[in-house]
Formats: sequence, structure tokens, C-alpha cells
Amino acid sequence: MKIIPIPCLADNYAYLVICRETKEAAIVDASEAGPVLAGVEAARAGSVRDVSAAGREGARPIAIWSTHHHWDHVGGNEEVAKALAIERVLGHASDDGRLPGLTDKLADGDTFKLGTLEVEVRHIPAHTLGAVAYIVRRPGGGEAAVFTGDTMFVAGCGRIFEGDPAMMHASLSKLASLDPATKVYCGHEYTEANLRFAAHVEPSNANVRALAAKARTTREAGQPTVPSTIADELACNPFLRVDSPEIRATLGIPAGASDADALGAIREAKNTFR
Ligand code: ZN
Ligand code: FE
Repeated sequence: MKIIPIPCLADNYAYLVICRETKEAAIVDASEAGPVLAGVEAARAGSVRDVSAAGREGARPIAIWSTHHHWDHVGGNEEVAKALAIERVLGHASDDGRLPGLTDKLADGDTFKLGTLEVEVRHIPAHTLGAVAYIVRRPGGGEAAVFTGDTMFVAGCGRIFEGDPAMMHASLSKLASLDPATKVYCGHEYTEANLRFAAHVEPSNANVRALAAKARTTREAGQPTVPSTIADELACNPFLRVDSPEIRATLGIPAGASDADALGAIREAKNTFR
């Protein structure tokens, strides 16, 4: 499998996922048409832009996979689908009516294929009630990726707009239980700000410092910090580390508070952190 991040808007990522065997491809989160169509064109034609290596891949987009209904993730759905004659737009069934162009209404646990790649859908509500993750695996194992939208970011999580902290905890736990080597592709480039917060709440976490140093180098080179891995997130992401005594001490969360209540308190602290 080949995955190409396509920067959109101020700090969004769309992605092109390509099956190397069949060249069938999916667009994850068609944020805005211009950059997505340019990225697909580069992948098809072999021209060299930011999307460099894609050129030699070839790509035949057959579907748009939407992670959730927010405009900065679906704003290009209809124009991209029309321009590329894409007939399938995937999203959670509950987003019917608010997710532009939706054709394939998904539920938790649905599976399908993209060329030879195996795809599994997980419902991960809380940022929005219809948020889904797409887990893509090469058959026979060895390589896996997850598209997390605005539910899990590198070292962070999305704001809880439609759910509650317990729902976000359950959704993040689903993602945390994936194979630790799974690569994490999220919806925004928020990594450096997230790691500043992570370092603030858990100052003795050396993994946070290491990931922050790596992110800084990557951003200075003008590159995306995605993907991380589930292992990175378990080591660094404060929203997966709700039982950390240091995080709880920093934020004054009682040791006996539930994981969901701790997550809610960490989210509240992040909302006002500068
Ligand atoms: Zn969102
Ligand atoms: Fe977003």
C-alpha cells in the first residue's frame, strides 16, 4: 500500500491510499477540491510535486472515504467525485443528510476491500457522533494504517463537540487496542502544539521530548509529521494516558477519578492551554 498525504486548507490533511497491485485508490477526506485533484493528477501522470513518489505509482481513484461530516473534511466531496467520476462516498450511516454525496452508509465493524487491501471500519464517536476510522491492512499482515480524522491526532485528540468524555475515552480505546505498529494518519497538522501540551502535563515523559524533537526537525524540513504509530501514541498521547499519576497530579485530577472523568479534565485543560 502507498499512502500520500495531501495538505489542504490551513492545516488539514487529505490522503490518497493506493493499492500497489491494482492501482485502485481511495481519497480520505476530500477537504477541498483543488489540492486533492492536483494530488491525484500528480499520482496518475507521474509529474513531480510534493506528492513526488506517487508519480511512479499510478492511481485510479474509485472512492472517497469521509471520516466525519465537518466541512473541512468533506468540503470537496461533490466536486472531487464529479471531476473524477467517483461513484462511492463512504461515511457513517448516521451522517446521512449532513455528509455531502454520501452513498455507502457504514456501521462499526464493516469490512471491504480496496484492490488487494483489506479495510475495516470502526465507529469512533465523540468529536462528532458519526466519526469513523478506516483501518487498512495488507493481506497476510505486516503493514497496517489507520485514518483517525479528528478523533485521534498525533499526541492529541479532537474537541468533544457531539459526545462526552466517556464516549471519547471508549473511541480512543478502540484505536489504542490496534496493533502497536499500525501507522496513524490524522486529519490535522496539530502535532507540535499537542506535544507542547503533552510536555506540560507530563514533564518527565522522555518519549514526549523525543517525539517533539523529531516533529520539529520534520516541520523545519516542511514535511508532515504524519504518520505516527499506535506505539507512539500509547507512549506520548495524554488522552491515552489518563491513568498517568504525573498527568493527574499536574492537573489536580484525583487518583480515584474514573478514566472518563480524567479524560474530560485533560480535554478541558487542553482547551485553554496556550
Ligand atoms: Zn472535525
Ligand atoms: Fe477538522
